[in-house]
Amino acid sequence: MANVAILFCKRIQDHSCIACAKCHKAMDELDGEFARYADDELHLVAMTDCGDCPGLTIPRVKLLREVTGNLGRPIDVIHLGTCMKLAMETADCPIDFDDLKIMLERDLGYEVVLGTHSY
Ligand code: SF4
Ligand code: SF4
Repeated sequence: MANVAILFCKRIQDHSCIACAKCHKAMDELDGEFARYADDELHLVAMTDCGDCPGLTIPRVKLLREVTGNLGRPIDVIHLGTCMKLAMETADCPIDFDDLKIMLERDLGYEVVLGTHSY
């Protein structure tokens, strides 16, 4: 079983994807980057924002880790939502994915996936 957390762009969420309905559909249908869980059980532990501009993701994830750890629901994989991917690629998001991935994996021990649903 993979315990998953999804981070969304604080500036886009509920503007482009109301109530994160797209990611919930994609999780149910194992669409896009969730296809990797076809032979595993995807368990959504948490969804929260990226920490806001200018890319305050690491402190946000540290807080998330503390909360989920205290609840006995540790996270294995962090997906950066398709909204974050689009923000980085098209909207001057200050996050450098490669740097963020290294910090989340090396310093915090998470597997990191860029993207969620494919539409
Ligand atoms: S891409 Fe996913 S996480 Fe981001 S706003 Fe849309 S539904 Fe929510
Ligand atoms: S840091 Fe990037 S992902 Fe986060 S709110 Fe700003 S533009 Fe969106």
